[in-house]
Amino acid sequence: MDEKDYLEEVEVEETKEQEQREDKDNDYEDVCFLCHRPESKTGKLITLAKGICICSECMQKTMDTFQNSNQDFSKIPGFSFINLADLQNMIPQRQKVKKKKPKEKEPVKELDIRSIPAPHKIKASLDEYVIGQEYAKKVMSVAVYNHYKRVATGTQDEIEIEKSNMLMIGPTGSGKTYLVKTLARLLDVPLAIADATSLTEAGYIGDDIESVLSKLLAAADNDVEKAERGIVFIDEIDKIAKKKDTHHRDVSGESVQQGMLKLLEGAEVEVPVGANSKNAMVPLTTVNTRNILFICGGAFPELEDVIKERLNKKSSMGFQADLKDKYDKEKNLLQKVTVEDLRNFGMIPEFLGRLPIIFSLESLTKEMLVRILKEPKNAILKQYQKLLALDEVQLQFNEGALEAIAEKAMEKDTGARALRAIIEEFMLDIMYEIPKDDNIGRVTITREYIEHTGGPVITMRGVLELEERDEK
Ligand code: ADP
Repeated sequence: MDEKDYLEEVEVEETKEQEQREDKDNDYEDVCFLCHRPESKTGKLITLAKGICICSECMQKTMDTFQNSNQDFSKIPGFSFINLADLQNMIPQRQKVKKKKPKEKEPVKELDIRSIPAPHKIKASLDEYVIGQEYAKKVMSVAVYNHYKRVATGTQDEIEIEKSNMLMIGPTGSGKTYLVKTLARLLDVPLAIADATSLTEAGYIGDDIESVLSKLLAAADNDVEKAERGIVFIDEIDKIAKKKDTHHRDVSGESVQQGMLKLLEGAEVEVPVGANSKNAMVPLTTVNTRNILFICGGAFPELEDVIKERLNKKSSMGFQADLKDKYDKEKNLLQKVTVEDLRNFGMIPEFLGRLPIIFSLESLTKEMLVRILKEPKNAILKQYQKLLALDEVQLQFNEGALEAIAEKAMEKDTGARALRAIIEEFMLDIMYEIPKDDNIGRVTITREYIEHTGGPVITMRGVLELEERDEK
């Protein structure tokens, strides 16, 4: 190799190194020396001597300060202008921060009728997660199937398919939110969960009604097209019933129902991006709610009385009049609900008219609670078993223990929601003590342990191995 070739090669190497260095630098951006915000926030920075960068805002502020004061700064004792050269020692090694990587945008999938799972498939997927509630799962599967068929065809001819908005009535902790969440995940559509109690008529303290769409937009990564096919779940809908005997303006009750009418039906709505209410500072975008599926849910605690009253009225006439308290002990009275009852409860007819699918959930029985503990795909017990399996310890619950947990949960009257709290309470000790001893191979939780009359059964690894050998 002659000298010329050699020099060329060295030059190529150097350029490569230089490029690599620049590439690395591209991952970083300058920050303002005064306010410390990165260039992506402040806009182009002004580079002063020695690599010090200042944003135009800080520069402007500095200028303004000087201009607004009429003083001659040089006469103030102890005051001197900053000498940039002095700053050299204060300059941090690298006046840059690492840029955030922009998220890759996934393309919006076109909805194809053939790709929508059939109702029985939707229900089968729901079955994997939600225990019981057979009727609710069936109604929802059909409604969702029809809804997305409507979206996919987009027909607007004479036979327009009606929107399948739903009203779900069920006691707390019976799985209303859980059903909707599971459904949205299965269908891979964005979901917004809002609480009706926080909503008020525009202009009053509380969230505007449009804020539910802002949430949906956020769930869809600000992709309007994706959001327009999403699901909005509004919980505690019973709290916006018309207030009886009130002389004040009902800003959080009937007015909210009125305000929701146009959303439910389908309208072009101006939605603030990333905020709960419109004001001059937030950008707006237009969302069409025509294809958004609205599901309202609530526990409607006093609705049972309304239903009872209607049923009693019907049966207390004539010769075969029933006893007045005939329906007092009936468990699933909510399943006998009619639109008339809901109107008597305080929901306005226009609102109910836009929720054509009304159904109730059962209150959970002890047997259902036991199944919820162990059967769903991500059951609480399976989660704990997985955690302990990482320590190579088996976790078992005998039937008595499961029943005891379910009984405790029934007492709390908050449905399946109580289960997790109860399990967490007694699993704390187990999760704390077990990793201490490497010889433990299996822990069996018993009814006695749940009821604080005994402890769990601990089996050592050696014994387990013997058992396994015997089995073989
Ligand atoms: P709510 O009806 O008050 O909205 P949730 O849906 O929030 O109740 O239920 C609380 C939790 O209880 C859920 O996260 C879920 O884990 C569990 N759960 C409730 N009902 C069921 C059910 N039928 N099957 C399985 N898990 C359930």
